[in-house]
Amino acid sequence: MRACPAGLSARFSMQQNAQRIEQALVRAEHDCVQAGQRLTSKRKHILQLLLEARAPLSAYEIIDRYAEAFGTKLPAMSVYRMLQFLADNKLAHKLETTNQYLACSHIACEHEHSVPQFLICDKCHKVEELGLRRELVDELHNSVARSGFTLVSQQLELHGLCSSCNGGKS
Ligand SMILES: [Zn+2]
Ligand SMILES: [Zn+2]
Ligand SMILES: [Zn+2]
Repeated sequence: MRACPAGLSARFSMQQNAQRIEQALVRAEHDCVQAGQRLTSKRKHILQLLLEARAPLSAYEIIDRYAEAFGTKLPAMSVYRMLQFLADNKLAHKLETTNQYLACSHIACEHEHSVPQFLICDKCHKVEELGLRRELVDELHNSVARSGFTLVSQQLELHGLCSSCNGGKS
């Protein structure tokens, strides 16, 4: 698996970020067509807002930003439906522990999307999407299943402090 760019971060310049967002949107549209889906302009706008955000957003934050950026106040129900569409097509992910949404970090990557796992900084709210090896995820799920516990979500969300909030210590 080749190395892939991490989520949007301060390491990238404004211009680089704009380019990455544009690339991701073009790719997302392409992937939807391939899958026989349609990335309507509203869905695309929502994905754009998620790509531009430095931290995950709640559905209501998305409604506010959408109104600001595109001049339309969307009903919450349709925003939830569009977020579900983006999640079903692996263009965005929902964080179950915080009820927020973020763009997938791997839209423009070539490798197969693994079961997404997230490192969530509780101080600056930055989220890193981590692709764990399938065997590792399976092993974890098998151990959980052996204990008789049923997982409602396959996705791991690990809360903590990112390296910048941790004073650069790793
Ligand atoms: Zn992803
Ligand atoms: Zn990737
Ligand atoms: Zn942080």
